[in-house]
Amino acid sequence: MKNLLILGGTGEASKLAIAAATIPDLDVQLSVAGCTSGAGNKPGVTRVGGFGGVSGLIDYLRDRYIDLLVDATHPFAAQISHHGYLAARELDIPRLMLVRPSWKELQKDNWLEVGNIQAAVDILSGNILSGESQRVFLTVGKKQLSKFSELQSKLQNIWFLIRLVEPLENNYTIPLGRIIFGKGPFSYEDELDLLSHYHIDTIVSKNSGGHATYSKIAAARELGIKVIMIDRPSLPIGKKVNTIEEVIQWLRKGEG
Ligand code: NAP
Repeated sequence: MKNLLILGGTGEASKLAIAAATIPDLDVQLSVAGCTSGAGNKPGVTRVGGFGGVSGLIDYLRDRYIDLLVDATHPFAAQISHHGYLAARELDIPRLMLVRPSWKELQKDNWLEVGNIQAAVDILSGNILSGESQRVFLTVGKKQLSKFSELQSKLQNIWFLIRLVEPLENNYTIPLGRIIFGKGPFSYEDELDLLSHYHIDTIVSKNSGGHATYSKIAAARELGIKVIMIDRPSLPIGKKVNTIEEVIQWLRKGEG
């Protein structure tokens, strides 16, 4: 019997956990951070919550006799991926990363690609001053919203539509505007309606990749809306694959 730990928090991780559970002689654990309510009820999830940094993850891997580690976290969850790399290296545990391909700009897209969230704020600031961006759709998650609040307090003539997965705890600063709730997959038609209804002229998005949240990008292309696209943080070194099938092959072949 081998013990597999999957670092999750994505739809792919849940699907992978379910698929991997069909492999004989493999015990599958799927860990999520627990950033959203009901995280423990998602398919395949067996544990919820942080490990307590790299040392906590090392202890966990050692105490649970983990033989294989698959990092199937979101491409912007850089910290846990680096922890996974360091902990697996320390214990010499085979590790594989499941990474969605990033979105690529197509011919009719109007993207401004930036390296990180601060660069997105800086670009947006220039756009607001020039009048190019007045109604902005923010789909950047909850952690970095305060940067847009700060921008708004300096340059008042900006309105935000903010999409979140669920209501936030009180300790988050959210820019003024309209908050809507939703979790992908979003349909192309609904995204077209949303962008048109709110007269959005600019979207700020992470380059998350995948299908679930791509419709807003396709809808922006159709409507000629510019997208400030935030590039992914760098991932740690190590073997990477793009599909669940490739992870299953890796597990079945015992490449780990
Ligand atoms: P992060 O910055 O890389 O990680 C922050 C801390 O959260 C980690 O140090 C770890 O705490 C804990 N953590 C993260 N993933 C975990 C997992 N799978 N199991 C146990 N603990 C985990 O990650 P983040 O950007 O806050 O994202 C948190 C989770 O949400 C990730 O699992 C990610 O897959 C998912 N997610 C993120 C995004 C995004 O845009 N960032 C979008 C969709 C889903 P300790 O140091 O205490 O171990």
